[in-house]
Amino acid sequence: RTFADLGLSGPLLETVQNMGFSKPTPIQLQCIPPGIQGRDIIGIAPTGSGKTAAFALPMLQHLWSAPQGLFACVLAPTRELAFQISSQIDALGSAMGVRTTVIVGGDEDRVTQAVMLAKKPHVVVGTPGRLLDHLKVTKGFSLRNLKFLILDEADRLLDSDFGVSIDEILKNIPTERTTYLFSATLTDKVAKLQRANLRNPVKVQV
Ligand code: AMP
Repeated sequence: RTFADLGLSGPLLETVQNMGFSKPTPIQLQCIPPGIQGRDIIGIAPTGSGKTAAFALPMLQHLWSAPQGLFACVLAPTRELAFQISSQIDALGSAMGVRTTVIVGGDEDRVTQAVMLAKKPHVVVGTPGRLLDHLKVTKGFSLRNLKFLILDEADRLLDSDFGVSIDEILKNIPTERTTYLFSATLTDKVAKLQRANLRNPVKVQV
């Protein structure tokens, strides 16, 4: 089956071709159709399976049909992963003019980040601690109109100190939204987060 068979359309189809994605990977085959239908997804898939495009493509397809302000937030456990996800979303969304901002901790300058957030990106990719800092202190930045929340490597996210930050972030996001939860393994904590936050999710595993 091709990306077009899965329901992908418009600029995204051209972009996957230009990026040399000749056919969908198994996780993409399973995620893209229910994602385009608007379902919540729990994906158990390792790095290298094509999982980033598996969650980014349906999200971008929804963004393309209803462009608005800050549309999606992706949370990841490390800055490296956040930058990788962001560059893949930028590449996949290039023909759509998608604007993505990375908000991670460590040495990254908070003022520069606040300026980038003020430019109203469509997608924010971040680590939980710094993103929560901005929610608390950066004027004009809010997740109140968010349509998509994606948690990547949720097992690692919940293994660290991020759990408290994630709970706080969740309080600032509408419950009416689409949620994707991706993890390499389904731990007890991941299952608990899933039960609390996903609505009748499609479960996919590769
Ligand atoms: P990920 O599992 O998201 O870390 O992706 C691993 C790598 O596979 C990335 O470099 C992607 O650009 C690439 N990739 C994702 N989907 C496809 C596909 N359908 N065909 C070829 N390469 C892909």
